[in-house]
Amino acid sequence: MAYKTVNPYTNEVEHEYANSTAAEIEAALAAGHELYQQWRTGAGLAERKAVITRLGELLRERRTEMAELMTRDMGKLIGEAEGEVDLCASFCDYYVEKADEFLAPKPIYTTTGNAHILKQALGVLLAVEPWNFPFYQIARVFIPNFLVGNPMVLKDASNCPTSAQAFCDLVLEAGAPKGSLTNLFVSYDQVSEIIADPRIAGVCLTGSERGGEAVAAEAGKHLKKSTMELGGNDAFIVLEDADLDKLAATVGFARLYNAGQVCTSSKRFIVPEGMKDQFVEMLKAAFSQVKMGDPLDRSTTLAPLSSKRAKEKLQKQVDKAIAGGATVAYGNEPVDLPGQFFMPTILTDLDQDSPIFNEELFGPVAEVYTYKTEAEAIAMANNSSYGLGNTVFGSNIQHAREVAAQIETGMSWINSAWASLAEIPFGGVKRSGYGRELSEFGFTEFVNHHLVYEPE
Ligand code: NAP
Repeated sequence: MAYKTVNPYTNEVEHEYANSTAAEIEAALAAGHELYQQWRTGAGLAERKAVITRLGELLRERRTEMAELMTRDMGKLIGEAEGEVDLCASFCDYYVEKADEFLAPKPIYTTTGNAHILKQALGVLLAVEPWNFPFYQIARVFIPNFLVGNPMVLKDASNCPTSAQAFCDLVLEAGAPKGSLTNLFVSYDQVSEIIADPRIAGVCLTGSERGGEAVAAEAGKHLKKSTMELGGNDAFIVLEDADLDKLAATVGFARLYNAGQVCTSSKRFIVPEGMKDQFVEMLKAAFSQVKMGDPLDRSTTLAPLSSKRAKEKLQKQVDKAIAGGATVAYGNEPVDLPGQFFMPTILTDLDQDSPIFNEELFGPVAEVYTYKTEAEAIAMANNSSYGLGNTVFGSNIQHAREVAAQIETGMSWINSAWASLAEIPFGGVKRSGYGRELSEFGFTEFVNHHLVYEPE
């Protein structure tokens, strides 16, 4: 069976799930479409807000239980998984508070009469989601769209089926009517069939370029709107005037959180030539502190990677970098534990000709590049087919902002590693995808901006 929980710490298969049948898919689409018909002109918002309020309560009540499911599915540290549950609960609070405001009709100024925009639901959506944040990825598309009135069918990653099912069960337990969010265990071919179904109004995907290309192509073929939240190769530019204490306190989190498996993990550290040795020492200090082990043990600070396949892919990329001239300044040694652990690794002597320069390394591997002039650092950051996020570290905030504004990217963080909050939009440009999730931007991605015009 394709959908399995294989615990990346023990390598044991803990759960297996049979694929959804054609009848189950049909039932999900029919129930979703029926709800859309009830909700599309704005009815039922108060009831949906009550469901999301209850969902937030349930998430908080079951915090550790839910977190453990994610840890067993894809290996993340229990504390990080609990933080993820908290973040999802905060999305509930935010969108319940904001739904009326975001859905209020918007008057349009015209000298020719009266015009306004109604914000209406669009229809049933398909969400295709990855494994690296099993709850958060579903929450960030489900919660706003449910409030809008867009029911959802979910195709989650095949390696985190237990958490996907648990999230959907929690939504029903919170009082959502059947069809609001249906988890399906479907093949890629079935995903294509679902996209083609006339009841599906749009598709949101978070994942790799490979998955994004395939799903966006299907959506395009059937003229369905899509949003794509894809990979990143984020630059972390250290300016000459960076606060070194703050920098030292940030670099570990920036690269190692979630075992380095974050689309917006800082992947390319771009530092002034003269600061290279000091910076590498700083990274080493952070990387050598980690304690690998059972991710359910709260003293563990670095989790295994999500799967054997993920570990093998990362090792191949590191080997390729070394073959291309990179030096291992730290790490890249086998880890004597049964799980899918990858030792935190620092690669130096890299340049823009390195075979991995334009690749996403999805794990605890830092690439260190050097620059002579700031213009060179900005050009290097921009020399990427990705454009998801980036960090600029410098004490002169105005100047750091000016540097950030020159990066071709969807998100910039100043003196901070990546961040994701309910009220802050998330998304990229170039091959990191299109569209935004979270905030009002994410809330309105699948809204029908229905114009009503009365000429005088
Ligand atoms: P992935 O292989 O693309 O998988 C993502 C989802 O797409 C999974 O549910 C996967 O199903 C499905 N999928 C893949 N190919 C498909 C196809 N041809 N047809 C239908 N469904 C398909 O990505 P991943 O490795 O799980 O996730 C890691 C990637 O996600 C990284 O590149 C990361 O940077 C990116 N990411 C981006 C964001 C963002 O907001 N920009 C956030 C988190 C992660 P299966 O599991 O069954 O293959």
